[in-house]
Amino acid sequence: MPENQQRSGEELFRDFAPLGSPAVYTRDRCDEISDTVARIRELKRERRAVILAHNYQRPEIFEVADFVGDSLELARKGTTVDADVIVFCGVHFMAETAKILSPERTVLLPDLRAGCSLAESVDADSLEERRDELKAVYPDLQVACYVNTTAEVKAVCDVCVTSSNATDIVEKLPTNNVLFVPDENLARHVQENTKKNIIAWDGNCYVHHQITPEQIERVRKHLPRVKVLAHPECRQDVLDLADAVLSTSGMIGYARESDAQEFLVVTECGLSDRLLLELPEKTFYKSCKLCAYMKMITLEGTLRSLEEMSHPIELDEDVRAGAERSLKRMLELS
Ligand code: SF4
Repeated sequence: MPENQQRSGEELFRDFAPLGSPAVYTRDRCDEISDTVARIRELKRERRAVILAHNYQRPEIFEVADFVGDSLELARKGTTVDADVIVFCGVHFMAETAKILSPERTVLLPDLRAGCSLAESVDADSLEERRDELKAVYPDLQVACYVNTTAEVKAVCDVCVTSSNATDIVEKLPTNNVLFVPDENLARHVQENTKKNIIAWDGNCYVHHQITPEQIERVRKHLPRVKVLAHPECRQDVLDLADAVLSTSGMIGYARESDAQEFLVVTECGLSDRLLLELPEKTFYKSCKLCAYMKMITLEGTLRSLEEMSHPIELDEDVRAGAERSLKRMLELS
């Protein structure tokens, strides 16, 4: 990886504290990776398995992945693959979303500790309670949930949204009052772009929420031509400084089509690795914000998952069908 093409956060983002140890790719480590990759490929054939990997995964996971993308892209891809088993290299709610849409397949999550601070900030019981309170005031209320939620929460909601279609879906709902869960930052971003009344839950992604406008301004001072691409899970005062507010897949498309050469990627650090692999001629500055949950997934854990068929995602059929209804409504409205 050319040194000038991916400068570390330590250089430009002095305040950013990495939340996990960055991988060190020594010669010995690369040999180990190569052996593990070969064994994983063999097992994928034996098990009729595919590996779906989220954009925030470690670079060596991309080596064994059949598809890389955001959570919904991957879940939809899971419905079309010719495979009996899906190994989902991402976090728990993503593997659940794949299972919701592909109930006939075995969906494995290599490490059950791979959760999500955002998904865990709302549970179905508290949501039902809040929804019922608000319906007494706003009888037309509908509940929209970000895809970063558990299957149980999705089952309670009227519609699911993603970071790229949230405003569009909210605009199309036949109501003026929307309870939006769980991300307060994404809810505020939607509120900026609609006249409807958005009532936000108070959850956030700990990775994006800690990024501050001062950090963006410091980079801009050093790199006046840099294009700032920010994820809508960031705070509003950070989004105000961005050239574009985009989902992870939107960032990839923007960087590919833009004439600009330098980008500051304001989201989880792993996306910069994917961007550099896809667009090696451009320069990406990354925020050095690692999601500790995403980094629970390792190449060795993925191998173990295939060897032991661990850990299968199981969903109660009522919950699965309810969550599927929310997801399908989003697809109909999109
Ligand atoms: S980056 Fe944030 S939203 Fe994504 S999995 Fe990690 S904690 Fe959850």
